[in-house]
Amino acid sequence: MEIAALQEIVKDRYFENDNARGIYHTALWFHEEVGELSSAIARGDKENAKEEFGDVLMWLLTLANLMQVDMEEVVKEYLENPRKKIPGK
Ligand SMILES: [Mg+2]
Repeated sequence: MEIAALQEIVKDRYFENDNARGIYHTALWFHEEVGELSSAIARGDKENAKEEFGDVLMWLLTLANLMQVDMEEVVKEYLENPRKKIPGK
């Protein structure tokens, strides 16, 4: 599946509610999901981590939709001009 297609599905399903909630509170949900993913990784719980990867991705796309950011374009630009890696990270 293309990123743009996935972003459109997320927009169709969730934009109305996400927009009503507002970007600040939506960002808090995103942070919560990142925390849940980090916890699953720390526990070595791969099955739960898989669920949380999905949650994080969907909330990321939701945030992009609220900010009218085209993630297909973001990824394309990133791959064409990768940011410098910080040594040791
Ligand atoms: Mg979750």
